[in-house]
Amino acid sequence: LARAVPQTSGLYPYVPGKPVETLLREKGLTRAIKLASNENPYGPSPKAVAAIGAAAAGVHRYPDGDANALKEKLAKIHNVDRDRLLLGNGSNEVLELLIRTFAGNGDEVVFSSRAFIVYALAAQAAGATPVAVPEADGLSHDLEAMAAAVNSKTKVVCIANPNNPTGTLHDNSAIQTFLDRLPRDVLVIIDEAYYEFVADRLGDSVQDLAHPGLVISRTFSKAYGLAGCRIGYAVADAVIVGLVNRFREPFNLNLLGQVAAVAALDDRDWVMARVADNNSERARLESALEAEGLLGGRCFGNFVLLKHSNCPEILRRLEDRGIIPRPLAPYGMADYLRISVGSAAENGEFLHALNEIIAALQ
Ligand code: PMP
Repeated sequence: LARAVPQTSGLYPYVPGKPVETLLREKGLTRAIKLASNENPYGPSPKAVAAIGAAAAGVHRYPDGDANALKEKLAKIHNVDRDRLLLGNGSNEVLELLIRTFAGNGDEVVFSSRAFIVYALAAQAAGATPVAVPEADGLSHDLEAMAAAVNSKTKVVCIANPNNPTGTLHDNSAIQTFLDRLPRDVLVIIDEAYYEFVADRLGDSVQDLAHPGLVISRTFSKAYGLAGCRIGYAVADAVIVGLVNRFREPFNLNLLGQVAAVAALDDRDWVMARVADNNSERARLESALEAEGLLGGRCFGNFVLLKHSNCPEILRRLEDRGIIPRPLAPYGMADYLRISVGSAAENGEFLHALNEIIAALQ
C-alpha cells in the first residue's frame, strides 16, 4: 500500500471522553457518571425530544440538504441573510470544512498551542502546516504572538473563545483589536462552542465583530444539550459559505438533528435556565477545588480545571468509583484534569469522591 498511504499518516486520532459503557466494562461497575465531554447533564429541551419523536417515522426520507427550516430560524436570530449560514454535522465538521476548503499543501493554519485540538488535526488532514503559538501564561491565548505568527503563507487563524480545554475568555474588544491586526485576506475562525455560557459577557459577536474573513462558529452540543444530534453552524460572509458548500457533503445535517435544533431554538427559556444552572454549579465546583488548593484556573464554559502533580492517580481512583473526568495529557497539560459541570447531584458525588481520594493521597 506504500503508494496509497497518505502523507498525513503521522496524524494521531482524536481521543474522546471515555464512554460510560467502556468504564463499566473495564471496572465491573453498574453505574458511572461521565464528566469528560462537556455535555449538558440535563439533556435537551423536552420540546426537542418531542420533535425527534414526531419526526422519527420519516427517517426513510433524506433530510433537507439545505436545512431550510433551521436556516430560517438562525437567520432571524442572528439578523443575517441565510446565505451567510454554514451548517455542519456538529461544529466539528464546520471547522474541518472551513480548514479543508481554505488551507492545503504549503499553507499555514495558526492557533494557540492549547487551543481545541481539532484545529491541529484538521490542518494536518488538509495537508497544511499547523502553527501552534505558545500560550501567554500557560493557559490563555497570546493574541499578540498569534498576530505576529501570521505571514504570507497563513490561510486560516483559529481561536476558541471561551477556549477548550483551558476555559479562558477574551472579551470582544480584545478579539476586535486582534482582528484589526490581521491581514484582510485570511480566514479567522472564532469558535464560540461555549458562547451561551458567556453571552451576557460577550454580547452579540456576530453583529459586533468585524473582519472580511470572519467566521463565527456555534454548536447545539453544549448549552442546547444536543451533542448526539450533531448540529453546528457558522456565520460568515456569503462568499466564504458559497466556497465551503462546494466541499460539503449534500446531506450532512441529519433529519432528526434538524428538527431537534429548530425545536430547541423555540425554547429559549429552557436554554437560559440550564445556562444559569451550569454557571452556578461551575462556581460551586471552582470554590470547592480552590478550597482544596486544586483549582487549575478560572473557566468560562461548562467545565472546570483540576490541577495536581499526580493526575494519573487521581484519574484512576475517580474511575474506580465510576466517575469519568478528562485527562489533559494529550494537550501537554499532564498536571490537569478537565471536569465537565454535571448536575448538582453528580457534582456532589464527584466532590465527595475527590475529597476522599485527596485525603488518602496525603
Ligand atoms: N469547538 C470547541 C471549542 C469544542 O470544545 C468542541 C467540542 N468539544 C467543538 C468545537 C465541537 O463540538 P461539536 O462538534 O459537538 O459541535
